[in-house]
Amino acid sequence: VFLLLIFASCAFSAIALNHADYIIGKTKLNHTLEVHRYTTGSNKINVFYIANQHGEETKSSKMAEGFEAAVKNNTKYTERFNTWIIPVSNPDGVHLNTQNNYYNQNTNRFWNITTCYETNKIKGAINDVKNITIFIDNHALNSGENYSYIYIRTKSDISQTKKDQICKAMNTYLSSFKCNFEKVSSTDNQDKAAYYMANKAKYTILIEVSQSNTSDKTAKQLGENLTRFIGAIV
Ligand SMILES: [Zn+2]
Repeated sequence: VFLLLIFASCAFSAIALNHADYIIGKTKLNHTLEVHRYTTGSNKINVFYIANQHGEETKSSKMAEGFEAAVKNNTKYTERFNTWIIPVSNPDGVHLNTQNNYYNQNTNRFWNITTCYETNKIKGAINDVKNITIFIDNHALNSGENYSYIYIRTKSDISQTKKDQICKAMNTYLSSFKCNFEKVSSTDNQDKAAYYMANKAKYTILIEVSQSNTSDKTAKQLGENLTRFIGAIV
């Protein structure tokens, strides 16, 4: 019985989720900038996910919602990954239904300079997390052109074997997307999250999704599938 208890407690602690929602800032229109953290201990692979940098791209926060729900419920994922999620990176833009923030700044053009409140706060939250292996920047056009893609951006070369693995996983879990790779150089303009983070992190997955003809439900499903995709490529 004693051994069984030890085993049970070890098995439990291996998957116990340490969850916290914390506020990293308050915007001009008094909206909170929130980080949702799910960790299971050190020596895990760190994933940082931001959505809705552009206020009108609300489907991206639906994807983040689906992603978060899957993180909560998928012990196979949480055994391996620590996750930080900012579901709404530009809440004033959501409120105003604009791409930009209250000050008409495009928050995804201020990653290399320090004059945008939201971007600064998000960068601060990122810097608090050491060794981010996967960074997701989720966009989603709500109407107009049908423009969906996933870019895998990295600073260093990816081997063909790794590329094949990533494309296979994409085909399995995110089959509506094409497999695109882009090597980022330190001389590239780092005003966008995808370039800034690709230079900073070991490698980066940037996701931009058009949801013009897609329901909230499908957006959430895509978010859920993203956890499976990540599980298959790292
Ligand atoms: Zn966008």
